[in-house]
Amino acid sequence: MNAQTDMSNTPEITCSTCEACCCRLEVMLMAGDDIPAAFTRQDRWGGWVMARRDDGWCAALDRDTMLCRIYERRPVICREYQAGDSDCITQRAQMVTGGR
Ligand code: SF4
Ligand code: SF4
Repeated sequence: MNAQTDMSNTPEITCSTCEACCCRLEVMLMAGDDIPAAFTRQDRWGGWVMARRDDGWCAALDRDTMLCRIYERRPVICREYQAGDSDCITQRAQMVTGGR
C-alpha cells in the first residue's frame, strides 16, 4: 500500500505511478499496530481505524509526495496489501473513473 519501493510483480502496476489509491480505504487497526494517536480515530462501533482527512485520504499520507509518513510502522493491513492484486487494480480503476 503506497510502497516506497515497487513491490509489484506486474510491471504496469506500480505504486510509483499511483496516487495512493488504496490509502483512501478504511484501515482497521489490529492488536500490535503502533500508530501515532493523531492518525487514528474510533469508529462508530468502538474499533480503531486510521483517520482520514476531508479529501478522503489517510491522515498519515504526505499530500505532497503521496507517500506514507509512517511507512516503517504502517498498520498490518497496509503491510499485507499487495500492489497488482485484484483489489489494487479495482482501486486504481475507481480513481481514474472518479468512483469509490
Ligand atoms: S492502489 Fe495499488 S499501486 Fe496504488 S498505492 Fe495502493 S498498492 Fe500501490
Ligand atoms: S498508514 Fe500509510 S500505507 Fe496505510 S493507508 Fe495510511 S498512508 Fe496508506
